[in-house]
Amino acid sequence: MHELSLAQGLVKQLLQLATEHHADRVVKATVRIGPLAGVVVDSFCFGFDAVKSMSSVTRETILELDCPPAVYRCPACGWEGEVCRPANVLCPGCGIQGRTFPVGDDDLILQQVELEGDDETLSGSEQKEGK
Ligand SMILES: [Zn+2]
Repeated sequence: MHELSLAQGLVKQLLQLATEHHADRVVKATVRIGPLAGVVVDSFCFGFDAVKSMSSVTRETILELDCPPAVYRCPACGWEGEVCRPANVLCPGCGIQGRTFPVGDDDLILQQVELEGDDETLSGSEQKEGK
């Protein structure tokens, strides 16, 4: 399952970040899913919830998703916008059928992470005070 392995990768990344910053918990993770990533967001959230519970570091992590819509462009006239069925839609600009191509990215990017630990600031300082 594609989404589950993506979720596993994300949790792994979060755990690594938490270790690097000596954080005890990951409070929030903001992830951007590119319009062409082909990720089923619901499945991804479900997978993330399943995987995150395996570690106390990520158990309470709030997942925030940023999913920009796919935008299509017509190479003939330069029209750009959102279309529902890109494969056979008529270009609203010039009327040529099936000539709109997707513009966007297929990346799944971890944009922002909120960590919480003994050192409240976690601003890159290495100090960790009493436990
Ligand atoms: Zn066109």
